Amino acid sequence: MLSRTVPRCAARPTALLRPLRPHGAPVRPARCSIDRSRRGYASEAAEKDLVIIGGGVAGYVAAIKAGQSGLSVACIEKRGMLGGTCLNVGCIPSKSLLNNSHLYHQILHDTKQRGIEVGEVKLNLEQMMKAKETSVSGLTKGIEFLFKKNNVEYIKGTGAFADEHTINVNLIDGGETSVKAKNIIIATGSEATPFPGMTIDEEKIITSTGAIALKQVPKKMVVIGGGIIGLEMGSVWSRLGAEVTVVEFLGQIGGPGMDAEIAKQAQKLLGKQGMKFKLNTKVKSGEESGEAFKINVEAAKGGKEEAIDADVVLVAIGRRPYTAGLGLENIGIETDDKGRLVIDQEYRTKLPHIRVIGDCTFGPMLAHKAEEEAVAAVEFITKNYGHVNYGAIPSVMYTHPEVAWVGQNEQEVKASGVKYKVGTFPFSANSRAKTNLDTEGMVKFIADAETDRILGIHIIGPNAGEMIAEGTLALEYGASTEDVGRTSHAHPTLSEAFKEAAMATYGKAIHY
Ligand SMILES: Cc1cc2nc3c(=O)[nH]c(=O)nc-3n(C[C@H](O)[C@H](O)[C@H](O)COP(=O)(O)OP(=O)(O)OC[C@H]3O[C@@H](n4cnc5c(N)ncnc54)[C@H](O)[C@@H]3O)c2cc1C
Repeated sequence: MLSRTVPRCAARPTALLRPLRPHGAPVRPARCSIDRSRRGYASEAAEKDLVIIGGGVAGYVAAIKAGQSGLSVACIEKRGMLGGTCLNVGCIPSKSLLNNSHLYHQILHDTKQRGIEVGEVKLNLEQMMKAKETSVSGLTKGIEFLFKKNNVEYIKGTGAFADEHTINVNLIDGGETSVKAKNIIIATGSEATPFPGMTIDEEKIITSTGAIALKQVPKKMVVIGGGIIGLEMGSVWSRLGAEVTVVEFLGQIGGPGMDAEIAKQAQKLLGKQGMKFKLNTKVKSGEESGEAFKINVEAAKGGKEEAIDADVVLVAIGRRPYTAGLGLENIGIETDDKGRLVIDQEYRTKLPHIRVIGDCTFGPMLAHKAEEEAVAAVEFITKNYGHVNYGAIPSVMYTHPEVAWVGQNEQEVKASGVKYKVGTFPFSANSRAKTNLDTEGMVKFIADAETDRILGIHIIGPNAGEMIAEGTLALEYGASTEDVGRTSHAHPTLSEAFKEAAMATYGKAIHY
């Protein structure tokens, strides 16, 4: 078995670590910026140890962590609700709709064989949306409670830099205030990238924000972009009855992070559920045609043109960092060519007391990545060290079956030139999946051919999003596939497929 020889510290130099520091930028020595950046103000009492702009996952987690660490902290949020994109218009509402639309679809199509006979099944979309809103409001209010519990001052308004230590806030309830801080964290998140030539109205031409709030099921929906958000939302509306066509510029769905073999399976399974795909295809333009649209597409490399009818068009071509109105010009901080705020390994901008975390800087735009950075950034302020392993951040697509992965995919490992081996195990050979009549998909391990160290784990199948936690832990601890294969997994569980795929990588699976 591999032993873990690498200390768990911020600057762990593994090949998997994605450097935060822009290429060539100098590494600044670690320092405790509370003391260094301390300045004298007329109203010193009002100065906070830390002020955070943005109350999304990155911002609110940083605020709670700071409160727990004894810092005087304020968090400025302009939405009027805490939780940012994730809780209000992202992860949570989309998963509520994914869960309930799956249930609806299952009741419609997958009960008879289980010995359950149901009468007329009707969709009450308004109620489904209410259920979503109940989850959202419960969670956002929960964060307000946690703010109080941890002595975080919550300022409802839009923050903008007046100078390097002062933030002016345009309050939601009217009026203005300003707050001074020794340390500042920018956590202003991201927004949907618009599609040139299409004006978003969130009713007919929508982003994910419109897609979680449609008032009726569209007859025909075109999804521009076959990444995770497009596929999740397309999946919701397809289950509820829409004819969904996904147009994707690349040759695979799921984005470049998804393992190509898994992406192919995912496409096949989503196709079986009714979704249509046009890969290697680019959208050229859209025109209104009465109440509906014609979306003109052509082969990505040029060639045959075609028009697809749609009554709703979902633009899901990615997200971009959001820093508008922050007054960055007042403090001389700029963004890079992708709109990201540039930082070093300790999340510091060129003004070391101003740090940046979450979607508005480098790395994958994921809530749990934002959370990790939030804790680490506060620890850099309070303790001078923090830890995020960018090589072990899991990704999940919450369709059915789910797709989840962590580490490198096979295309990446191949391109790196490392000698590797692959082991797989299908859910069709797993006793629990068979019991549940839910056997589509597989678990795939990729490991270093010489050391057996795990390089990547890819799952398509039921509960993949929960199961990937074990893979993430294995990767974090530098485990080998033998480590996983020799670990007892409860029977009968889906996770036995995980163990058997590991066994298949260093030896042989038992049940396949
Ligand atoms: C449809 C959808 C589904 C998603 N599903 C998942 C998922 O399943 N899992 C996952 O990990 N990630 C998911 N994501 C991504 C996830 O939502 C983001 O990665 C996460 O929200 C990033 O957190 P953040 O705090 O950096 O930014 P945000 O959540 O965007 O928060 C930033 C906050 O800052 C506020 N703000 C901005 N400027 C100012 C200002 N000047 N003053 C005051 N406040 C300001 C904004 O109002 C916002 O509330 C999803 C995203 C979408 C759109």
